[in-house]
Amino acid sequence: MTNKKITIAIDGYSSTGKSTVAKQLAKHLSYTYVDSGAMYRAITLYAMQQGFISDSFLDKDGLVSKLNDVSISFIYNEGLGFSEVYLNGINVEKEIRTLKVSQLVSKIAAIPEVRMKLVEQQHAMGINKGVVMDGRDIGTVVFPDAELKIFMVASAETRAQRRFKELIEKGEVVSFDDVLKNVQERDYLDTTRKDSPLVKAEDAIEIDNSELSLEEQFHKIVKLAEKIISKA
Ligand code: C5P
Repeated sequence: MTNKKITIAIDGYSSTGKSTVAKQLAKHLSYTYVDSGAMYRAITLYAMQQGFISDSFLDKDGLVSKLNDVSISFIYNEGLGFSEVYLNGINVEKEIRTLKVSQLVSKIAAIPEVRMKLVEQQHAMGINKGVVMDGRDIGTVVFPDAELKIFMVASAETRAQRRFKELIEKGEVVSFDDVLKNVQERDYLDTTRKDSPLVKAEDAIEIDNSELSLEEQFHKIVKLAEKIISKA
């Protein structure tokens, strides 16, 4: 038994709890957790700040021409136990989680030049293995050779309930209907875009967590990971 480090890809629809279980798993295995969605959200925030996107407008060429000026990095926060995302040196962890960013991010994530930049960075972050990365295209595009691929699903209502609770707890004033609409819209945009659409990798294990507690879901995934690691 060599117990080499492996790569774990967790993909799925928005608000399926990918990041919760990915963080737990990374901590348990002493692996690095990478939230790839945070990177798309950070570029979206940049595009909003620079006036390249609003509800009714997208200056794709303008954004693409400035991509070299955008630097996204992660810095581990010991207190929180995970890495926070920085946009050009500024911690934007809180700003990228608003409903406004959620409403615009899938349009930014559909731009091939944005994906190319972020996939290259994600790839580099996982080069030494020992990484748990969550997103939409991790098992299909970023790490097609990942030893463990999980594809998380849950009903749109269940996901919207979870996201609504999270936003309310953070003090955002939002309606459940807007959150549900956002979950459905992102499902549609993420699965129908031309470049790297959200699709289950052929070798991914699907987990529907609509009826699973966080503990049940964690144990299920840890068991799968430990089995593969013990044979690596
Ligand atoms: O995971 P999260 O909900 O934070 O992701 C935000 C958005 O970023 C997704 O709805 C999707 O449009 C985009 N995304 C992506 N590819 C990834 C991760 C996120 O297109 N690997």
